[in-house]
Amino acid sequence: MATQKMLKFVTIGREMPEKRDAAVRSEDFHEIYREFAAAKATEQASRCSQCGVPYCQSHCPLHNNIPDWLRLTAEGRTQEAYLRSQETNTFPEICGRICPQDRLCEGNCVIEQSGHGTVTIGAIEKYITDTAWEEGWVQPIVPAVERPESIGIIGAGPGGLAAADRLRRMGYQVTVYDRHDRAGGLMIYGIPGFKLEKPVVERRNKLLADAGVEFVLNANVGEDISFDAIRGKHDAVLIATGVYKTRDLDIDNADAKGVVAALDYLTASNRVDLGDEIPDYEDGELNANGKRVVVIGGGDTAMDCVRTAIRQGAQSVKCLYRRDRANMPGSQREVQNAEEEGVEFVWLSAPGAFSGHVTGEAMEAQESDVDEVGDVPTISAVRVQKMRLGAPDVTGRQSPELIEGADYDEPADLVIKALGFEPEELPKLWGVDGLEVTRWGTIKADFQTHQTSLPGVFAVGDIVRGASLVVWAIRDGREAAESIAGFLSGAARVAAE
Ligand SMILES: Cc1cc2nc3c(=O)[nH]c(=O)nc-3n(C[C@H](O)[C@H](O)[C@H](O)COP(=O)(O)OP(=O)(O)OC[C@H]3O[C@@H](n4cnc5c(N)ncnc54)[C@H](O)[C@@H]3O)c2cc1C
Ligand code: SF4
Repeated sequence: MATQKMLKFVTIGREMPEKRDAAVRSEDFHEIYREFAAAKATEQASRCSQCGVPYCQSHCPLHNNIPDWLRLTAEGRTQEAYLRSQETNTFPEICGRICPQDRLCEGNCVIEQSGHGTVTIGAIEKYITDTAWEEGWVQPIVPAVERPESIGIIGAGPGGLAAADRLRRMGYQVTVYDRHDRAGGLMIYGIPGFKLEKPVVERRNKLLADAGVEFVLNANVGEDISFDAIRGKHDAVLIATGVYKTRDLDIDNADAKGVVAALDYLTASNRVDLGDEIPDYEDGELNANGKRVVVIGGGDTAMDCVRTAIRQGAQSVKCLYRRDRANMPGSQREVQNAEEEGVEFVWLSAPGAFSGHVTGEAMEAQESDVDEVGDVPTISAVRVQKMRLGAPDVTGRQSPELIEGADYDEPADLVIKALGFEPEELPKLWGVDGLEVTRWGTIKADFQTHQTSLPGVFAVGDIVRGASLVVWAIRDGREAAESIAGFLSGAARVAAE
Protein backbone atom coordinates (compact mmCIF):
# COMPACT_ATOMS: atom_id res chain seq x y z
CA MET A 1 0.00 0.00 0.00
CA ALA A 2 2.72 2.44 1.08
CA THR A 3 4.85 1.84 -2.01
CA GLN A 4 1.84 2.40 -4.30
CA LYS A 5 1.75 5.94 -3.00
CA MET A 6 5.45 6.37 -3.70
CA LEU A 7 7.96 5.89 -6.53
CA LYS A 8 5.99 8.26 -8.79
CA PHE A 9 9.14 9.95 -10.08
CA VAL A 10 8.83 8.11 -13.40
CA THR A 11 5.42 9.59 -14.21
CA ILE A 12 5.40 12.84 -12.20
CA GLY A 13 7.96 15.56 -12.99
CA ARG A 14 9.78 17.70 -10.44
CA GLU A 15 8.00 20.92 -9.51
CA MET A 16 8.99 23.67 -7.10
CA PRO A 17 6.32 25.92 -5.59
CA GLU A 18 5.54 28.73 -8.03
CA LYS A 19 8.07 31.58 -8.04
CA ARG A 20 6.56 35.08 -8.07
CA ASP A 21 7.18 37.08 -11.22
CA ALA A 22 10.56 38.89 -11.04
CA ALA A 23 9.09 42.33 -11.82
CA VAL A 24 6.49 41.97 -9.05
CA ARG A 25 8.72 40.41 -6.37
CA SER A 26 11.45 43.04 -6.92
CA GLU A 27 9.06 45.62 -5.48
CA ASP A 28 8.79 44.06 -2.02
CA PHE A 29 10.61 42.02 0.66
CA HIS A 30 8.20 39.08 0.75
CA GLU A 31 9.44 35.55 0.04
CA ILE A 32 9.66 34.77 -3.64
CA TYR A 33 8.17 31.26 -3.59
CA ARG A 34 4.45 30.69 -3.06
CA GLU A 35 3.18 27.88 -0.81
CA PHE A 36 2.66 24.35 -2.13
CA ALA A 37 -1.07 23.58 -2.10
CA ALA A 38 -1.80 20.37 -0.13
CA ALA A 39 -2.43 18.34 -3.28
CA LYS A 40 0.84 19.49 -4.86
CA ALA A 41 2.87 18.68 -1.73
CA THR A 42 1.32 15.19 -1.62
CA GLU A 43 2.05 14.66 -5.30
CA GLN A 44 5.66 15.88 -5.11
CA ALA A 45 6.38 13.85 -1.93
CA SER A 46 5.12 10.73 -3.76
CA ARG A 47 8.06 11.03 -6.18
CA CYS A 48 10.46 9.73 -3.47
CA SER A 49 11.86 6.30 -4.35
CA GLN A 50 12.20 5.22 -0.66
CA CYS A 51 15.63 3.88 -1.50
CA GLY A 52 17.35 1.51 0.92
CA VAL A 53 20.27 3.84 1.62
CA PRO A 54 18.88 7.38 1.70
CA TYR A 55 21.79 9.60 0.71
CA CYS A 56 19.58 12.67 1.25
CA GLN A 57 19.42 11.78 4.94
CA SER A 58 23.15 11.18 5.33
CA HIS A 59 23.94 14.49 3.58
CA CYS A 60 21.51 16.47 5.75
CA PRO A 61 23.58 17.83 8.68
CA LEU A 62 20.66 16.94 11.00
CA HIS A 63 20.21 13.46 9.47
CA ASN A 64 16.52 14.22 9.09
CA ASN A 65 14.34 11.14 8.47
CA ILE A 66 13.46 12.52 5.06
CA PRO A 67 12.04 9.34 3.39
CA ASP A 68 9.72 8.84 6.40
CA TRP A 69 8.19 12.29 6.35
CA LEU A 70 7.93 12.29 2.56
CA ARG A 71 5.96 9.03 2.73
CA LEU A 72 3.67 10.35 5.47
CA THR A 73 3.06 13.51 3.42
CA ALA A 74 2.30 11.45 0.31
CA GLU A 75 -0.24 9.48 2.37
CA GLY A 76 -1.90 12.72 3.55
CA ARG A 77 -0.75 12.12 7.16
CA THR A 78 0.67 15.64 7.56
CA GLN A 79 0.47 15.82 11.36
CA GLU A 80 2.49 12.62 11.70
CA ALA A 81 4.92 13.96 9.09
CA TYR A 82 5.33 17.10 11.23
CA LEU A 83 5.94 15.07 14.41
CA ARG A 84 8.57 12.98 12.62
CA SER A 85 10.23 16.03 11.06
CA GLN A 86 10.51 18.06 14.29
CA GLU A 87 12.15 15.15 16.12
CA THR A 88 15.47 15.93 14.43
CA ASN A 89 15.13 19.60 13.43
CA THR A 90 14.40 22.49 15.79
CA PHE A 91 13.42 24.88 12.96
CA PRO A 92 12.30 22.73 9.97
CA GLU A 93 10.36 25.53 8.24
CA ILE A 94 13.46 27.76 8.38
CA CYS A 95 15.80 25.10 6.95
CA GLY A 96 13.20 24.27 4.30
CA ARG A 97 13.41 27.91 3.20
CA ILE A 98 17.14 28.69 3.37
CA CYS A 99 19.30 25.56 3.36
CA PRO A 100 21.39 25.30 0.19
CA GLN A 101 19.55 22.06 -0.64
CA ASP A 102 21.40 21.68 -3.95
CA ARG A 103 24.60 21.08 -1.93
CA LEU A 104 23.00 19.03 0.88
CA CYS A 105 19.92 16.78 0.83
CA GLU A 106 18.60 17.38 -2.70
CA GLY A 107 22.08 17.34 -4.23
CA ASN A 108 22.34 13.69 -3.14
CA CYS A 109 18.85 12.49 -4.06
CA VAL A 110 19.12 9.17 -5.88
CA ILE A 111 16.42 9.90 -8.47
CA GLU A 112 18.27 13.12 -9.38
CA GLN A 113 21.30 10.96 -10.15
CA SER A 114 19.17 8.78 -12.45
CA GLY A 115 18.12 11.91 -14.38
CA HIS A 116 14.57 12.40 -13.06
CA GLY A 117 15.08 15.61 -11.11
CA THR A 118 15.43 15.65 -7.32
CA VAL A 119 12.52 15.41 -4.89
CA THR A 120 11.80 18.97 -3.69
CA ILE A 121 12.75 18.08 -0.11
CA GLY A 122 13.21 21.63 1.24
CA ALA A 123 9.87 22.89 -0.10
CA ILE A 124 8.05 19.88 1.41
CA GLU A 125 9.78 20.31 4.78
CA LYS A 126 8.62 23.95 4.76
CA TYR A 127 5.08 22.93 3.75
CA ILE A 128 4.79 20.37 6.57
CA THR A 129 5.79 22.79 9.36
CA ASP A 130 3.98 25.84 7.93
CA THR A 131 0.85 23.63 7.94
CA ALA A 132 1.62 22.61 11.54
CA TRP A 133 1.74 26.29 12.57
CA GLU A 134 -1.55 27.01 10.75
CA GLU A 135 -3.25 24.02 12.37
CA GLY A 136 -1.99 24.86 15.88
CA TRP A 137 0.13 21.71 16.20
CA VAL A 138 3.22 23.72 17.18
CA GLN A 139 2.90 24.37 20.90
CA PRO A 140 5.29 25.73 23.56
CA ILE A 141 7.37 23.20 25.48
CA VAL A 142 5.99 22.07 28.84
CA PRO A 143 8.83 20.15 30.55
CA ALA A 144 7.83 16.98 32.37
CA VAL A 145 10.09 17.96 35.31
CA GLU A 146 11.63 21.27 36.36
CA ARG A 147 15.33 21.09 37.20
CA PRO A 148 17.10 23.65 39.38
CA GLU A 149 20.28 24.04 37.31
CA SER A 150 20.53 27.03 35.00
CA ILE A 151 22.37 27.59 31.74
CA GLY A 152 23.44 30.96 30.36
CA ILE A 153 23.52 31.09 26.56
CA ILE A 154 25.37 34.00 24.93
CA GLY A 155 23.94 34.63 21.46
CA ALA A 156 20.36 34.23 20.25
CA GLY A 157 21.15 32.94 16.75
CA PRO A 158 20.14 29.47 15.53
CA GLY A 159 22.93 27.76 17.51
CA GLY A 160 21.97 29.34 20.83
CA LEU A 161 18.23 28.98 20.24
CA ALA A 162 18.45 25.30 19.22
CA ALA A 163 20.34 24.59 22.45
CA ALA A 164 17.83 26.66 24.46
CA ASP A 165 14.96 24.60 23.04
CA ARG A 166 16.57 21.24 23.88
CA LEU A 167 17.66 22.28 27.37
CA ARG A 168 14.25 23.69 28.24
CA ARG A 169 12.62 20.43 27.06
CA MET A 170 14.80 18.65 29.63
CA GLY A 171 13.50 21.03 32.32
CA TYR A 172 16.60 23.22 32.81
CA GLN A 173 16.32 26.96 33.53
CA VAL A 174 17.61 28.77 30.44
CA THR A 175 18.63 32.43 30.01
CA VAL A 176 19.66 33.72 26.57
CA TYR A 177 21.73 36.93 26.38
CA ASP A 178 22.05 38.92 23.16
CA ARG A 179 23.47 42.33 22.30
CA HIS A 180 20.64 43.01 19.85
CA ASP A 181 17.14 44.13 20.75
CA ARG A 182 15.59 41.09 19.01
CA ALA A 183 16.47 37.40 19.13
CA GLY A 184 17.25 35.40 15.98
CA GLY A 185 20.87 36.36 15.19
CA LEU A 186 21.55 36.45 11.46
CA MET A 187 18.11 34.91 10.83
CA ILE A 188 16.56 38.23 11.94
CA TYR A 189 19.15 40.91 11.00
CA GLY A 190 21.30 39.25 8.29
CA ILE A 191 19.13 37.14 5.97
CA PRO A 192 16.60 39.32 4.08
CA GLY A 193 12.83 38.81 4.14
CA PHE A 194 12.69 37.68 0.50
CA LYS A 195 14.48 34.47 1.65
CA LEU A 196 13.07 34.25 5.19
CA GLU A 197 10.18 36.46 6.25
CA LYS A 198 10.68 37.99 9.69
CA PRO A 199 7.42 36.72 11.30
CA VAL A 200 8.67 33.14 10.68
CA VAL A 201 11.61 33.85 13.02
CA GLU A 202 9.65 35.99 15.48
CA ARG A 203 7.01 33.31 16.12
CA ARG A 204 9.83 30.88 17.04
CA ASN A 205 11.29 33.42 19.50
CA LYS A 206 7.85 33.85 21.07
CA LEU A 207 7.37 30.08 21.34
CA LEU A 208 10.61 29.79 23.32
CA ALA A 209 9.68 32.73 25.57
CA ASP A 210 6.24 31.12 26.16
CA ALA A 211 8.07 27.92 27.17
CA GLY A 212 9.91 29.80 29.91
CA VAL A 213 13.20 30.64 28.20
CA GLU A 214 14.30 34.01 29.60
CA PHE A 215 15.68 36.50 27.05
CA VAL A 216 18.02 39.26 28.24
CA LEU A 217 18.31 41.49 25.18
CA ASN A 218 20.39 44.65 24.59
CA ALA A 219 23.06 42.92 26.71
CA ASN A 220 26.44 43.09 25.05
CA VAL A 221 28.62 40.59 26.89
CA GLY A 222 32.00 42.19 27.56
CA GLU A 223 30.41 45.67 27.80
CA ASP A 224 27.03 45.62 29.57
CA ILE A 225 27.72 42.44 31.52
CA SER A 226 30.97 40.54 31.96
CA PHE A 227 31.56 36.96 30.89
CA ASP A 228 32.67 36.16 34.45
CA ALA A 229 29.38 37.52 35.82
CA ILE A 230 27.44 35.19 33.48
CA ARG A 231 29.66 32.27 34.50
CA GLY A 232 29.08 33.09 38.14
CA LYS A 233 25.30 33.17 37.69
CA HIS A 234 24.84 29.87 35.83
CA ASP A 235 25.83 26.23 36.24
CA ALA A 236 26.97 26.03 32.61
CA VAL A 237 27.53 28.53 29.80
CA LEU A 238 27.17 28.20 26.04
CA ILE A 239 28.91 30.65 23.70
CA ALA A 240 27.05 31.04 20.38
CA THR A 241 28.08 34.52 19.29
CA GLY A 242 28.66 34.01 15.55
CA VAL A 243 31.32 35.84 13.48
CA TYR A 244 30.97 39.53 12.75
CA LYS A 245 34.37 41.12 12.01
CA THR A 246 34.21 42.32 8.39
CA ARG A 247 37.11 41.44 6.08
CA ASP A 248 38.40 44.66 4.52
CA LEU A 249 40.08 45.99 1.39
CA ASP A 250 43.56 47.49 1.33
CA ILE A 251 43.16 49.86 -1.63
CA ASP A 252 43.13 53.64 -2.25
CA ASN A 253 40.15 55.42 -0.71
CA ALA A 254 38.95 52.20 0.95
CA ASP A 255 37.05 54.34 3.48
CA ALA A 256 35.43 56.74 1.01
CA LYS A 257 31.95 57.97 1.93
CA GLY A 258 29.44 55.67 0.27
CA VAL A 259 31.52 52.52 0.82
CA VAL A 260 29.64 50.41 3.37
CA ALA A 261 29.90 47.00 5.04
CA ALA A 262 27.41 44.36 3.92
CA LEU A 263 26.05 43.59 7.36
CA ASP A 264 25.47 47.28 8.25
CA TYR A 265 23.56 47.59 5.00
CA LEU A 266 21.51 44.40 5.44
CA THR A 267 20.78 45.06 9.13
CA ALA A 268 19.40 48.52 8.30
CA SER A 269 17.22 47.06 5.55
CA ASN A 270 15.93 44.26 7.80
CA ARG A 271 15.16 46.74 10.55
CA VAL A 272 13.17 48.90 8.11
CA ASP A 273 11.34 45.71 7.03
CA LEU A 274 10.53 45.12 10.73
CA GLY A 275 9.10 48.65 11.05
CA ASP A 276 12.02 50.38 12.82
CA GLU A 277 13.07 53.96 12.01
CA ILE A 278 16.68 53.96 10.86
CA PRO A 279 18.30 57.41 10.42
CA ASP A 280 21.16 56.04 8.23
CA TYR A 281 18.53 54.58 5.90
CA GLU A 282 16.38 57.75 5.89
CA ASP A 283 19.38 60.01 5.10
CA GLY A 284 20.43 57.72 2.23
CA GLU A 285 23.71 56.39 3.65
CA LEU A 286 22.43 52.80 3.85
CA ASN A 287 19.78 53.09 1.13
CA ALA A 288 20.35 52.16 -2.52
CA ASN A 289 17.38 54.11 -3.88
CA GLY A 290 18.24 55.83 -7.19
CA LYS A 291 21.93 54.87 -6.92
CA ARG A 292 24.42 53.03 -9.10
CA VAL A 293 25.36 50.20 -6.77
CA VAL A 294 28.46 48.00 -6.92
CA VAL A 295 28.60 44.97 -4.62
CA ILE A 296 31.97 43.29 -4.10
CA GLY A 297 32.00 39.55 -3.34
CA GLY A 298 30.58 36.27 -4.63
CA GLY A 299 29.09 34.59 -1.56
CA ASP A 300 25.54 34.40 -0.24
CA THR A 301 25.95 37.71 1.61
CA ALA A 302 26.78 39.43 -1.70
CA MET A 303 23.70 37.80 -3.29
CA ASP A 304 21.52 39.15 -0.46
CA CYS A 305 22.99 42.66 -0.91
CA VAL A 306 22.44 42.83 -4.67
CA ARG A 307 18.83 41.65 -4.36
CA THR A 308 18.16 44.06 -1.48
CA ALA A 309 19.53 46.97 -3.57
CA ILE A 310 17.15 46.04 -6.42
CA ARG A 311 14.20 46.13 -3.99
CA GLN A 312 15.27 49.53 -2.64
CA GLY A 313 14.98 50.96 -6.17
CA ALA A 314 18.66 51.18 -7.23
CA GLN A 315 19.32 52.69 -10.66
CA SER A 316 21.68 49.80 -11.48
CA VAL A 317 23.23 46.91 -9.51
CA LYS A 318 26.51 45.24 -10.48
CA CYS A 319 28.25 42.43 -8.63
CA LEU A 320 32.03 42.18 -8.97
CA TYR A 321 33.56 38.78 -8.32
CA ARG A 322 37.20 37.84 -8.94
CA ARG A 323 36.51 34.27 -10.13
CA ASP A 324 33.90 33.06 -12.64
CA ARG A 325 30.34 31.80 -12.26
CA ALA A 326 31.38 28.15 -11.92
CA ASN A 327 33.81 28.98 -9.11
CA MET A 328 31.76 31.31 -6.96
CA PRO A 329 30.86 30.27 -3.41
CA GLY A 330 27.28 31.61 -3.53
CA SER A 331 24.38 29.36 -4.53
CA GLN A 332 23.64 29.12 -8.27
CA ARG A 333 19.93 29.30 -7.46
CA GLU A 334 20.49 32.73 -5.87
CA VAL A 335 22.53 33.94 -8.87
CA GLN A 336 19.66 32.96 -11.15
CA ASN A 337 17.13 34.74 -8.92
CA ALA A 338 19.33 37.85 -8.87
CA GLU A 339 19.76 37.85 -12.66
CA GLU A 340 16.01 37.52 -13.17
CA GLU A 341 15.57 40.56 -10.91
CA GLY A 342 17.98 42.69 -12.96
CA VAL A 343 21.40 42.27 -11.32
CA GLU A 344 24.43 42.27 -13.62
CA PHE A 345 27.33 39.97 -12.66
CA VAL A 346 30.79 41.14 -13.69
CA TRP A 347 32.86 37.95 -13.40
CA LEU A 348 36.66 37.83 -13.13
CA SER A 349 36.79 41.35 -11.74
CA ALA A 350 38.26 42.84 -8.57
CA PRO A 351 38.39 46.38 -7.17
CA GLY A 352 41.83 48.01 -7.63
CA ALA A 353 40.95 51.39 -6.06
CA PHE A 354 38.01 53.62 -5.26
CA SER A 355 37.97 57.13 -6.66
CA GLY A 356 35.92 59.90 -5.22
CA HIS A 357 35.17 63.56 -5.28
CA VAL A 358 35.29 65.98 -2.39
CA THR A 359 31.79 67.29 -1.70
CA GLY A 360 30.92 71.00 -1.34
CA GLU A 361 30.79 70.69 2.44
CA ALA A 362 34.16 68.97 2.62
CA MET A 363 35.64 71.48 0.15
CA GLU A 364 34.61 74.35 2.42
CA ALA A 365 36.23 72.45 5.25
CA GLN A 366 39.33 71.90 3.12
CA GLU A 367 39.68 75.61 2.44
CA SER A 368 39.75 76.26 6.18
CA ASP A 369 41.64 73.29 7.62
CA VAL A 370 41.77 69.91 5.91
CA ASP A 371 43.50 68.05 8.71
CA GLU A 372 41.14 69.27 11.37
CA VAL A 373 37.89 68.39 9.64
CA GLY A 374 39.13 65.56 7.41
CA ASP A 375 39.04 65.19 3.62
CA VAL A 376 37.23 61.89 3.10
CA PRO A 377 36.01 61.83 -0.50
CA THR A 378 32.61 60.58 -1.62
CA ILE A 379 32.74 57.51 -3.86
CA SER A 380 32.25 58.16 -7.57
CA ALA A 381 33.82 55.10 -9.25
CA VAL A 382 35.41 51.72 -8.70
CA ARG A 383 38.62 51.01 -10.61
CA VAL A 384 37.93 47.49 -11.89
CA GLN A 385 40.85 45.14 -12.48
CA LYS A 386 40.22 42.24 -14.86
CA MET A 387 41.40 38.78 -13.81
CA ARG A 388 41.95 35.38 -15.37
CA LEU A 389 41.99 32.02 -13.61
CA GLY A 390 45.54 30.69 -13.22
CA ALA A 391 47.09 27.56 -11.77
CA PRO A 392 45.29 25.72 -8.94
CA ASP A 393 46.45 26.55 -5.40
CA VAL A 394 47.10 23.97 -2.64
CA THR A 395 43.36 23.42 -2.21
CA GLY A 396 43.04 22.66 -5.94
CA ARG A 397 41.10 25.87 -6.59
CA GLN A 398 42.29 28.05 -9.51
CA SER A 399 43.75 31.34 -8.26
CA PRO A 400 42.71 34.58 -9.96
CA GLU A 401 45.59 36.45 -11.71
CA LEU A 402 45.62 40.08 -12.78
CA ILE A 403 45.42 40.92 -16.50
CA GLU A 404 47.76 43.91 -16.88
CA GLY A 405 46.41 47.01 -18.62
CA ALA A 406 42.75 45.93 -18.71
CA ASP A 407 41.53 48.22 -15.87
CA TYR A 408 38.54 50.50 -16.30
CA ASP A 409 36.39 52.79 -14.13
CA GLU A 410 32.90 51.67 -13.13
CA PRO A 411 30.78 54.64 -11.94
CA ALA A 412 29.28 54.06 -8.48
CA ASP A 413 27.32 55.99 -5.84
CA LEU A 414 27.17 53.13 -3.31
CA VAL A 415 29.72 50.32 -2.86
CA ILE A 416 28.86 47.39 -0.60
CA LYS A 417 31.72 45.23 0.69
CA ALA A 418 30.64 41.59 1.09
CA LEU A 419 34.03 39.96 1.54
CA GLY A 420 33.26 37.58 4.38
CA PHE A 421 33.46 37.59 8.16
CA GLU A 422 36.02 36.70 10.79
CA PRO A 423 35.66 36.05 14.51
CA GLU A 424 36.07 38.84 17.01
CA GLU A 425 38.89 38.30 19.54
CA LEU A 426 36.67 37.02 22.32
CA PRO A 427 39.35 36.13 24.94
CA LYS A 428 40.69 39.71 24.67
CA LEU A 429 37.27 41.41 24.41
CA TRP A 430 35.93 39.47 27.38
CA GLY A 431 39.16 39.33 29.40
CA VAL A 432 39.24 35.51 29.65
CA ASP A 433 42.77 34.28 29.00
CA GLY A 434 41.88 30.63 29.59
CA LEU A 435 39.47 30.49 26.64
CA GLU A 436 41.53 28.87 23.89
CA VAL A 437 41.11 29.86 20.24
CA THR A 438 42.42 28.42 16.98
CA ARG A 439 44.90 30.24 14.76
CA TRP A 440 41.91 31.63 12.83
CA GLY A 441 40.49 33.13 16.05
CA THR A 442 37.53 30.73 16.27
CA ILE A 443 36.89 29.15 19.67
CA LYS A 444 38.51 25.76 20.21
CA ALA A 445 35.79 23.29 21.16
CA ASP A 446 35.60 19.50 21.11
CA PHE A 447 34.06 18.36 17.83
CA GLN A 448 31.40 16.19 19.50
CA THR A 449 30.87 17.52 23.02
CA HIS A 450 31.41 21.20 22.13
CA GLN A 451 33.27 21.63 25.43
CA THR A 452 35.83 24.50 25.37
CA SER A 453 39.08 24.76 27.33
CA LEU A 454 37.09 26.16 30.29
CA PRO A 455 35.18 23.67 32.47
CA GLY A 456 31.41 24.02 32.08
CA VAL A 457 31.76 26.35 29.07
CA PHE A 458 30.62 25.09 25.66
CA ALA A 459 30.64 26.77 22.23
CA VAL A 460 28.70 26.22 18.97
CA GLY A 461 27.91 27.60 15.54
CA ASP A 462 29.91 30.10 13.49
CA ILE A 463 32.15 31.15 16.40
CA VAL A 464 33.56 27.60 16.30
CA ARG A 465 33.17 26.69 12.60
CA GLY A 466 33.79 30.09 11.00
CA ALA A 467 31.03 31.50 8.72
CA SER A 468 28.81 28.49 7.97
CA LEU A 469 25.10 27.65 7.71
CA VAL A 470 21.99 27.83 9.88
CA VAL A 471 21.52 24.04 9.69
CA TRP A 472 25.02 23.38 11.07
CA ALA A 473 24.45 25.85 13.94
CA ILE A 474 21.21 24.00 14.79
CA ARG A 475 23.01 20.67 14.82
CA ASP A 476 25.77 22.02 17.08
CA GLY A 477 23.23 23.59 19.44
CA ARG A 478 21.27 20.34 19.78
CA GLU A 479 24.42 18.30 20.38
CA ALA A 480 25.79 20.79 22.91
CA ALA A 481 22.51 20.64 24.86
CA GLU A 482 23.01 16.89 25.34
CA SER A 483 26.62 17.42 26.48
CA ILE A 484 25.60 20.20 28.88
CA ALA A 485 22.97 17.89 30.39
CA GLY A 486 25.65 15.20 30.80
CA PHE A 487 28.01 17.71 32.39
CA LEU A 488 25.32 18.95 34.80
CA SER A 489 24.20 15.49 35.85
CA GLY A 490 27.86 14.58 36.49
CA ALA A 491 28.32 17.76 38.53
CA ALA A 492 25.12 17.02 40.50
CA ARG A 493 26.34 13.47 41.24
CA VAL A 494 29.69 14.76 42.51
CA ALA A 495 27.90 17.33 44.72
CA ALA A 496 25.70 14.59 46.20
CA GLU A 497 28.64 12.27 46.99
C1 LIG B 1 23.78 37.89 4.85
C2 LIG B 1 23.83 36.46 5.25
C3 LIG B 1 23.04 35.54 4.59
C4 LIG B 1 23.05 34.21 4.96
N1 LIG B 1 22.26 33.34 4.28
C5 LIG B 1 22.20 32.05 4.69
C6 LIG B 1 21.34 31.13 4.05
O1 LIG B 1 20.64 31.47 3.10
N2 LIG B 1 21.29 29.86 4.51
C7 LIG B 1 22.04 29.45 5.58
O2 LIG B 1 21.93 28.28 6.01
N3 LIG B 1 22.91 30.29 6.19
C8 LIG B 1 23.01 31.58 5.77
N4 LIG B 1 23.87 32.44 6.38
C9 LIG B 1 24.73 31.93 7.48
C10 LIG B 1 23.95 31.78 8.79
O3 LIG B 1 23.15 32.91 9.00
C11 LIG B 1 24.91 31.55 9.95
O4 LIG B 1 25.74 30.46 9.65
C12 LIG B 1 24.15 31.25 11.25
O5 LIG B 1 23.24 32.28 11.55
C13 LIG B 1 25.14 31.07 12.41
O6 LIG B 1 24.42 30.87 13.59
P1 LIG B 1 25.06 31.22 15.01
O7 LIG B 1 24.00 30.89 16.01
O8 LIG B 1 26.37 30.59 15.14
O9 LIG B 1 25.34 32.81 14.99
P2 LIG B 1 24.48 34.09 14.63
O10 LIG B 1 23.28 33.80 13.83
O11 LIG B 1 25.46 35.05 14.06
O12 LIG B 1 23.99 34.62 16.05
C14 LIG B 1 24.91 35.10 16.98
C15 LIG B 1 24.21 36.00 17.98
O13 LIG B 1 25.13 36.33 19.01
C16 LIG B 1 24.97 37.69 19.35
N5 LIG B 1 26.23 38.19 19.93
C17 LIG B 1 27.44 38.27 19.34
N6 LIG B 1 28.34 38.77 20.21
C18 LIG B 1 27.68 39.01 21.37
C19 LIG B 1 28.06 39.55 22.63
N7 LIG B 1 29.30 39.93 22.88
N8 LIG B 1 27.11 39.66 23.58
C20 LIG B 1 25.83 39.27 23.36
N9 LIG B 1 25.42 38.77 22.17
C21 LIG B 1 26.33 38.63 21.20
C22 LIG B 1 24.64 38.36 18.03
O14 LIG B 1 23.95 39.60 18.25
C23 LIG B 1 23.74 37.31 17.36
O15 LIG B 1 22.39 37.53 17.67
C24 LIG B 1 23.90 33.78 6.01
C25 LIG B 1 24.73 34.70 6.66
C26 LIG B 1 24.71 36.03 6.28
C27 LIG B 1 25.62 37.01 6.97
S1 SF4 C 1 17.51 20.54 7.14
FE1 SF4 C 1 18.33 21.33 5.19
S2 SF4 C 1 19.65 19.70 4.41
FE2 SF4 C 1 18.31 18.78 6.00
S3 SF4 C 1 16.49 18.00 4.86
FE3 SF4 C 1 16.01 20.08 5.52
S4 SF4 C 1 16.55 21.37 3.78
FE4 SF4 C 1 17.60 19.41 3.48
